[in-house]
Amino acid sequence: MSRSPLSWPSVLLPPLLIALSVAFWWRYPPRPEPPPMSDQALLRLAADTDFHNLEPTPAPLPWEHYTIQQGDLLTHLWKEQWQLPTATLYRLIEDADQGQRLNRLRPGQHLEWRADSDGRLLALRLWESDAEGYQWDLDGDAIHGQVLEKERASHRVRVAGIVRTSLAAALAGQPALAGAAGSVSAQLAELLPLSRQARRGDHFSLLVDVERLDGGERAYSAKLMGFDYQGARLQASAARFDDDRFYRPDGTSLLPSFWRHPFAESHHYRISSPFNLHRHHPITGRISPHYGTDFAMPTGSPVAAPADGVVRRVTHGLLAGNYVVLDHGNGYRTRYMHLSKVRVHPGDTVRQGQVIALSGNTGRSTGPHLHYELRMNGRPVNAMKVPLPTKGQLASDELTRFRNQYAAYFDFPADANDGTEVAHRDPEQ
Ligand SMILES: [Zn+2]
Repeated sequence: MSRSPLSWPSVLLPPLLIALSVAFWWRYPPRPEPPPMSDQALLRLAADTDFHNLEPTPAPLPWEHYTIQQGDLLTHLWKEQWQLPTATLYRLIEDADQGQRLNRLRPGQHLEWRADSDGRLLALRLWESDAEGYQWDLDGDAIHGQVLEKERASHRVRVAGIVRTSLAAALAGQPALAGAAGSVSAQLAELLPLSRQARRGDHFSLLVDVERLDGGERAYSAKLMGFDYQGARLQASAARFDDDRFYRPDGTSLLPSFWRHPFAESHHYRISSPFNLHRHHPITGRISPHYGTDFAMPTGSPVAAPADGVVRRVTHGLLAGNYVVLDHGNGYRTRYMHLSKVRVHPGDTVRQGQVIALSGNTGRSTGPHLHYELRMNGRPVNAMKVPLPTKGQLASDELTRFRNQYAAYFDFPADANDGTEVAHRDPEQ
């Protein structure tokens, strides 16, 4: 084989030149100048480039609000009052996970929605409580949901005032407690015998942790942390410690310590019927809860207050017989039934161990016994088992912590600080 006498350029160059000229003509063909576009055509072009918006977007309208009333029918509101498409409501309700929320609407719940100018629903919010809710966002055929939760901010406020008509009325005029005045006054009434001993002209200063929801003006919750009450008949100061109980500035417990039984420890009475929420009633035979502890004791046995307190009721009932209720503060009450004789009067202050009555067999009773009940915040509890406040005094390290927490609130005696640095937590007002 011999090599070809022609060199490669002489063979390749002519077709290459033809190809280049074709390519050049194809790349730059002679073309007429395009006519100037009309405004309408330009708009159409602009709209076509965003294929979600072949039509100009209808403007979203402002959020609407509605609070559910007794007897409201969502389908009726939706169609007749809000003029929203019924089909959209059914799409929301048919959603297995979240649709139920709309079937369970309760009076007082709040709905917010926003539609566009064509009447299509864009978003719906349901506030199931002041703090929590759910939001549906509608985007064409898609529905997106999210749980709503308002941020809560807590801050400590100090409110002071003078009682003119009642403490509740004095607190109702405090802007810092707006929305929570009733709750705060009820919390204080659990600790102090205000209804009997508050007088016009009494001075008070309260320390309250107020929780507000994001953007809210009114309190969402309020927790009484401390009080200083200086009145004609009632003087008391105390603050809440880590164990949620109230202690006086000297570290003694505001709530008195409790005896386990409403009689002296030297007595040992047999329990004839224990606390039992599923008991068969001994006379009627039906299941009826026994909210107390029955002690078999001879008629005339002394019944003693298990803790300091105030006599709330002395009465006679067909079932309970002669009957006494004591209030020990902090939500603790005790009840005594079937008594033969009562030795106290409503409003009396009683001391731990003081004889308040003699046991008996009055009312519906199968034999001489004492029925003794303990209730915490209205709820019957087993007085023989429930942990009872027995701490009468904070230990010294607890007392130091307690005083540090409330150093800005109480004027503790100078010797109280033991030379330790006092951490101030200033109230906002
Ligand atoms: Zn009983």
